[in-house]
Amino acid sequence: MNSCVFCKILAGEIPATILHRDDQVAVIADISPQAPEHLLIFPVRHIPTTLDLTADDDALVGHIYRVAAKIAGEKGFAESGFRIVNNCNADGGQTVWHLHFHLLGGRELSWPPG
Ligand code: 5GP
Ligand code: ZN
Repeated sequence: MNSCVFCKILAGEIPATILHRDDQVAVIADISPQAPEHLLIFPVRHIPTTLDLTADDDALVGHIYRVAAKIAGEKGFAESGFRIVNNCNADGGQTVWHLHFHLLGGRELSWPPG
């Protein structure tokens, strides 16, 4: 059985607010938002981390970024600005081992991150 939380969301086994779903990616609202807009974009296929991407996934990553930009525009925070973050492994702060990108916006984001 696949115990991955994002795979379970895709399978309908865990509820989530799904903003977009196509054959390659899904966009959901983060359960613990760190900004007024905090969405998660992840591939439908279970890929554990950025380190597991191959050349075959180049178009997938491009698609993820284009979907992120489209959603930011639709939700009205593209022009004010946003951040796309991928946390990789322990020091990067990764807690869910299904590759995902945080899309954060709706307020001024500080830099550098903690
Ligand atoms: P990471 O720390 O791996 O970069 O990000 C994982 C994100 O997934 C966190 O921001 C966390 O709040 C979110 N998350 C964890 N479990 C769930 C869940 O069951 N539903 C939703 N919508 N988000 C989740
Ligand atoms: Zn998964």
